[in-house]
Amino acid sequence: MPPTDIHPCPKCGGKMIETIEEIDHDRFTCLVCRYTWARFLKSARPVIKVYCSKCVEWFSEETVRVENIEEGFDGADVLTFHCPRCASIQRSNRITAKR
Ligand SMILES: [Zn+2]
Ligand SMILES: [Zn+2]
Repeated sequence: MPPTDIHPCPKCGGKMIETIEEIDHDRFTCLVCRYTWARFLKSARPVIKVYCSKCVEWFSEETVRVENIEEGFDGADVLTFHCPRCASIQRSNRITAKR
């Protein structure tokens, strides 16, 4: 996030820094008076990402062609998909990322 996106502290006008990144909101803390402020994100729905070991990159699940989904040994979902870049068939855990 660019620093220009962060508003000055509403209480003292001091500089605020982003302290916590959550799935659905960002939390800012004033460096001067320690006032904290949460900004809820408009698109709170998280993106699911899957990993292509050939491209060494994460892709949004929305952009890949899903072949199969199954439960891995640890209970987590394992997705078999066609990579949108290299077209190989990959298996990956699904991770939740912020949009
Ligand atoms: Zn302040
Ligand atoms: Zn790939």
